[in-house]
Amino acid sequence: MGKIKNEVYEKVFDQVDAMWEEEVSFLQTLGRYPSTLGNEREIQEHLAGVLERDLNLKVEKLIPEPEKLAAHPGFSKPEWSYEDRPVVVGKYEAEGEKKGKSVIFQGHIDVVSPEPLSKWNYDPWGAEIIGPRMYGRGIADMKSGVAAMIYALKAVQKAGVKLANDVTIKTVTEEECTGNGALAAIEAGYRADAALIPEPLGQKALVGQVGVIWVRIKVSGLGAHTERADQAVNAIVKSYPMVNALLDYEKELNSRPKHKVFGDHPHPLNINIGKIHAGDWPSTVPSESTIEARVGFNPGVNPGDVKKDLEAFLLTAAQKDEWLKDNPPEISFYGFHAEGFTLDPDQEFIHVLKEAHRMNEKDSLGYGTFTGTTDARFYNLYYDIPATCYGPTGANLHGPDEWVDLDSVKRVTKTYAAFLLKWCQYQE
Ligand SMILES: [Zn+2]
Repeated sequence: MGKIKNEVYEKVFDQVDAMWEEEVSFLQTLGRYPSTLGNEREIQEHLAGVLERDLNLKVEKLIPEPEKLAAHPGFSKPEWSYEDRPVVVGKYEAEGEKKGKSVIFQGHIDVVSPEPLSKWNYDPWGAEIIGPRMYGRGIADMKSGVAAMIYALKAVQKAGVKLANDVTIKTVTEEECTGNGALAAIEAGYRADAALIPEPLGQKALVGQVGVIWVRIKVSGLGAHTERADQAVNAIVKSYPMVNALLDYEKELNSRPKHKVFGDHPHPLNINIGKIHAGDWPSTVPSESTIEARVGFNPGVNPGDVKKDLEAFLLTAAQKDEWLKDNPPEISFYGFHAEGFTLDPDQEFIHVLKEAHRMNEKDSLGYGTFTGTTDARFYNLYYDIPATCYGPTGANLHGPDEWVDLDSVKRVTKTYAAFLLKWCQYQE
């Protein structure tokens, strides 16, 4: 029995090896779609075609409907349309008597902007291979994981193995700004006994992540020509107290007792001042300045409470400024309204992943935490579906010269294939 079982795994791993060049060029194709916010349709059409034709899955393309999701506690408010930006779901339905358990593999295909392009040594949309690495925006985060999860299922199929339970593959939008793509697909009924998300966390299983919100602070000044600048109030200058208040709030957050899942982390809660827009002419005093920031906070804290707390903190800081006291900044929130979560690694789902991992890696499975957010939160927080992230090794996510280690992509593909055989089981 043990012997036969090993043969099945060997057969499937051999398929991953045999299709490796194909998988690499598939990843290059994905990397060459500039799938930033609003530009996801083409890559999604391509993926829907692959899932339908090559993997024989039942494919649905669905468009998130904010009005239907708005009442959900995990919903984040977008400021853009979902028209022409489908989420793609492909479903493999096991035939015959079911054994094992079902699983969802989910990857996001939206990527952040590669700007400033001048900082890149490689074409962000070139998917160039140099030595063991492939470079490009979104190559690590997380098109490599998308390739791995698709080729894991494909290798099982090509090896002629019939899985004994259902596999759902989702390629989602909106991961980098709201998570509403993932939420829409779960709300549409695509659920399972567990979910795996191949974020590039270096072959570790994610057991905790922070919560995230976005805030917008609009500071008003009193605009004028520079000749009257002494009577004007410069909105850029008046932004400084708000920038400093954000930095103070970050200090304050990190001075509170650390959540136990981040006990070893030196600075888990980060505030990123990501955008500042003001002024349009060197000789005009700007009358408006808008700051946008991303705020991280502990698991177990309601994002709505953080918003109230932060707003009060900023308005208190504004009181200390002569101008802002009487002209308080406008504070609003959009995008991420994401709660953090923790996951108990002592459960069957993680044990099975650990066994699959051990078949392809030298060390036993380690656990990781993430000081950002991922779509895994929806499954864990609202649907009682255990979900973790486990994926390839990469670097410079959201920065210039993002890359993925191709050999890690191959190992993750095999680990995912082994996970499928163990978790879903198969017809002998
Ligand atoms: Zn990602």
